[in-house]
Amino acid sequence: MYDIGIIGGGTAGLTAAIYGQRAGKSTLVLEGLNYGGQIVNSPNVENYPGIASISGAEFSMNLMEQASRLGAEMKTEQVTGISEEDGHKVVVTTGESYVCRTVVIATGMVHRHLGLEKEIKLAGAGVSYCATCDGMFFRGRDVAVVGGGNTALQDADFLSNYCNKVYLVHRRDEFRGENNLVQALEKRENVEWILDTVVKDILGEQTVEGLELHNKKTGADSAIKVAGVFVAVGQIPKNQEFADYVSLDDAGFIRASEDCMTSRAGVFAAGDCRTKEVRQLTTAAADGAVAALAAVKYLA
Ligand SMILES: Cc1cc2nc3c(=O)[nH]c(=O)nc-3n(C[C@H](O)[C@H](O)[C@H](O)COP(=O)(O)OP(=O)(O)OC[C@H]3O[C@@H](n4cnc5c(N)ncnc54)[C@H](O)[C@@H]3O)c2cc1C
Repeated sequence: MYDIGIIGGGTAGLTAAIYGQRAGKSTLVLEGLNYGGQIVNSPNVENYPGIASISGAEFSMNLMEQASRLGAEMKTEQVTGISEEDGHKVVVTTGESYVCRTVVIATGMVHRHLGLEKEIKLAGAGVSYCATCDGMFFRGRDVAVVGGGNTALQDADFLSNYCNKVYLVHRRDEFRGENNLVQALEKRENVEWILDTVVKDILGEQTVEGLELHNKKTGADSAIKVAGVFVAVGQIPKNQEFADYVSLDDAGFIRASEDCMTSRAGVFAAGDCRTKEVRQLTTAAADGAVAALAAVKYLA
């Protein structure tokens, strides 16, 4: 029996393990894929306070070692569900089940891709899924944002503060995002709208050099020169396994606020998998701490 069962070995989950162990509780971290989570493949992180520059791999390794040194138990197993048994929580994986007094769900999310071959090849070399994280690398340059929801509109707004020009490429002629965001963007002189248009290809071999576009209405192909493309076509939370156990919002994120409490007593949600505005390493780490300390309080 573990005091705190943690599902997901990204920044939120590993931070929860650090705080849980330091509070004298036994913690088990279950990670289905690779420890470190989304950040592991990022070449450079420059916005984590106190660390001027670090690769995602080194950041992840440091977190893992810190949690491990404190005594957190770690297993590489995919969790398939959670159930209640005799007042405890049973975390079920593909091969085992673990009885825990409390659970922290920290399963993160993945960004929806455009599905282009070059997208994977040039990820981190001009292709980005996070304007807040990577925007600064494109100061003074021309970039494109692809998407039509709030994230795309917010990204375009954010980037227009310091990029030379921002193209906003959207496959429809109207945006899904909020009207006030659209209106704010319309006032930006360095934002150019390219509507009814999809990205056919990403140009460049070593780094992004441009985009090949296809207008769905006219059928015309064209190209723009950009140094970066920010893909904002959706986020996919990895919470389906828990849909019958805790309350999810329409987009599939676990309903929880800054206190990380879910709809179920003794179960907490931390990091990108929960409803929130800002999905970053700092907020994932903050959630990990809050969720673990809430679990400790619950145990008391
Ligand atoms: C390319 C890229 C670059 C980024 N750069 C920055 C940056 O520079 N600065 C910044 O602040 N943020 C950056 N981010 C965002 C940041 O990585 C995330 O906000 C952060 O990783 C969220 O941490 P998390 O622990 O909540 O989720 P994740 O990192 O997504 O970790 C969740 C973990 O849970 C595991 N998991 C999911 N489901 C299960 C299951 N059923 N069973 C077991 N394990 C499961 C996953 O495999 C994953 O390892 C970047 C993101 C990407 C994709």
